Parts: sequence; C-alpha cells; structure tokens
Amino acid sequence: MTELPRLAETGGCRNTPILKQRGQHQVFCGLTGIIWLHRKMQDAFFLVVGSRTCAHLLQSAAGVMIFAEPRFGTAILEETDLAGLADAQEELDRVVAELLSRRPDIRQLFLVGSCPSEVIKIDLQRAAERLSETHAPHVRILNFSGSGIETTFTQGEDACLASMVPVLPQTEARELLLVGALPDVVEEQAVSLLEQMGIGPIRVLPAPRADSDLAVGKNTVFVLTQPFLGDTHAALERRGARHLPAPFPFGEEGTTAWLRVIAEEFGVDAETFDRVTAAPRARARKAVSQASEALRGKSVFFFPDSQLEIPLARFLTRECGMEAIEVGAPFIHKGVVGPDLDLLAEGPTLAEGQDVDLQLDRCRAARPDLTVCGLGLANPLEAEGLATKWAIELVFTPVHFYEQAGDLAGLFSRPVRRADLLKVEAAE
Ligand code: SF4
Repeated sequence: MTELPRLAETGGCRNTPILKQRGQHQVFCGLTGIIWLHRKMQDAFFLVVGSRTCAHLLQSAAGVMIFAEPRFGTAILEETDLAGLADAQEELDRVVAELLSRRPDIRQLFLVGSCPSEVIKIDLQRAAERLSETHAPHVRILNFSGSGIETTFTQGEDACLASMVPVLPQTEARELLLVGALPDVVEEQAVSLLEQMGIGPIRVLPAPRADSDLAVGKNTVFVLTQPFLGDTHAALERRGARHLPAPFPFGEEGTTAWLRVIAEEFGVDAETFDRVTAAPRARARKAVSQASEALRGKSVFFFPDSQLEIPLARFLTRECGMEAIEVGAPFIHKGVVGPDLDLLAEGPTLAEGQDVDLQLDRCRAARPDLTVCGLGLANPLEAEGLATKWAIELVFTPVHFYEQAGDLAGLFSRPVRRADLLKVEAAE
C-alpha cells in the first residue's frame, strides 16, 4: 500500500520567517571535504595551495601515513611567497610537473585554494588553464576553493563538484544523475533500489574515475543526495540538466519520498514501487523505532554547520519524536531544501548564518536535551551540562537510505542516553 508522506499539519516551514544573523561564526573550512572526496575519486589528486596549518589539518583529519602515497598534498606557501617576493605561478608549475612525473596514475588534478592563497590572490583558475595546456589530455586540471573565509566545511565538496560540471562531455541521452559523494556501500544500495524499479541509465557525480561515461545535457535529470550542493545544482542547470527537488534520503520517510520523486519522473507504477521498497522500509522503520526510543519527547537545537540541519530536523521530529527548538543552517536554499521545509512542522526558529554569541545565549536559555554543533562548541557546552552531537560526524558516517536509518537515529540517541545516565548517577 503506497503511503504518501504526511504534510506537516501546520503547513510546514517553507514560508516561516528566517532569522538572519551575521557575526562571528564557528565552522571548519572546505578543505575537510578532501578527506572523503579523495577516497571516492580513485585517480584524482588534491593539491592544496596553502600554509602549514592547511597541511596539518589535512594530515591529522585524514590520518594517512605519509608513506602511503596519499592522493592529496599541500604546496606550502613560504614567507617569500606570502610577501610576494617569489613567483607563485612558476613555483606551482614546478611542483605540479614533479608530482605528475612521480605519479603517472593521476588523471585529475585539483588545485585547491585556501585562506592564504586567497589572501595573496593567487589566481588558481589561470594556473589550472595553463597547466591543462601542458598536461592534457593525460591529466585534467581543475581548481576550486577550500578556504575557510566566510564558508563552511561542506562547501568544499560543492565547489569541487561544481568545478567538474563545465568540463563534462555533452549528451542527448535521457539519464538519471545522482549528485553527491556517498560511501560506496550506500551509493550501491541507492542504485540497486532504483535499478530494481527499472530506472536507468544511472550516473553518479563524482564518478570514480576521470574516463567514466559521465556526461550531461538537456535530457539529464538530476537529484541531489546531499543538501549542501547549491553551486553544483546551479552549474548543472546551466548545462541544461533538470533538477528533481525531493526531501533528502534520511530515515525511512525521507528515503521513500526521495525515491518516489524519481520513480514518478520515470513512470514507475505504484505496485513496482511498493514491491521494491516494502521490505527495506519495514526494516528501516523497525530500526528507527528501536534506536530512537531515547529521543522521544526530547528537544534538539541545531547550530549551523554541516548544511544537513533542515533534513535532519525533519527526520528527528517526524520519525524520532523529537521537538526542534532552533534549526540553524549556514545557508537556506529553498530550491534544495524546500521539500524538507514543507514536511517540517512550524514551531522551531529557523536561522540562517550565525552570530555565535547570540546563538549561544538562545541555546543556554532553551537548555535543549541535545545540541547539534561543531567541534569547537561541543566541549564548552558539555561542560555546561548540555548533551551534544558533533555535526561533522554526520558527514563522515554512512547515514543515507533505508539500511542506515537506524544508525542515523543511533548517532543522536547515544549522547542523549549518556546524559540521562549521568543525571541518574548524579541523583543517586
Ligand atoms: S584553508 Fe584556512 S581555515 Fe582551512 S586550514 Fe587552511 S588556513 Fe586554516
């Protein structure tokens, strides 16, 4: 029996006034995305043009041994570069030539901008164009910014994927394009469900290798798997592709709604849809109901960080029985998260951007049962007795689609259960 998602009884949050604040904000930079992107694109190399700080961030976050020949590195800007005394473009040509001669397996090279390269205005687009002339066709050289100036960490993936769209080959074929870097096992689950419904051909951006048959054109329809891909969305539309707006595939309901939008576009009948989704839906419902026991009736407060906040608030309120007090997101792009806003019942404050001190005041006054925030805020809030969840874990953990729905609820229920136990111990 096909059930359509229940719309929020109060009419949803799409038209709720948004609190917009600009002030000090606490986020990681877009270099973080390299950690998961380099695992996805098996013949790519990410060369950060940055400082020792950038190198340390990547090295410690990725935890890769230097002798493991990782597929990322940092061309470190020395003091002479920063002072404008050396020709950074010449230096970059030399580093790239050395790298490519030592690593013939590299077929895509991304020059990644950072705060220092942006401050001293190194033109990486010009560098990518010049180096492409030298190293094409064996290596495709692109550039994007991973800088932490006025950005948030998931923008790194968006900027990277958006940089690839203009150079994709043209196609007239009607194809479904899934957009977003998911762990392989999760991506395989999504593709398998869609193929069982007879949908195809299915392509994925990013493709694992540069020589894949990924192409785009006016008959391409695309669906996002991550809500932070606004620039990639715009780049694909500029190539004539058509976006299918859908709630994001978090939880049983979100996954079903996401699949349904695609199934309707490709004319899948209700019986086929139900046959393919019935068993995994039932498993997901059961897993979520078990994993979310500790969450029922509890309140949640989101600081803006991962850009997953709105779809996750929808999942936590509708499938896990939580009450959202504030849902802060770095950016609210209604063309992307509109379907999730439609399902999120009115009530929480919707906030875009951040003035961290003001937001901390609101959070302290509300005393939520769970606060979802960045690493920098989590420890101080824990010290004040608030249970927290690091937003960055939600990007590093497989959380999409049916089979991960229980794990997603579990990520939130663990800190709540721990806080409940601590309260009991303190009372004894
Ligand atoms: S890009 Fe900026 S924020 Fe990120 S590590 Fe480098 S200096 Fe720090």
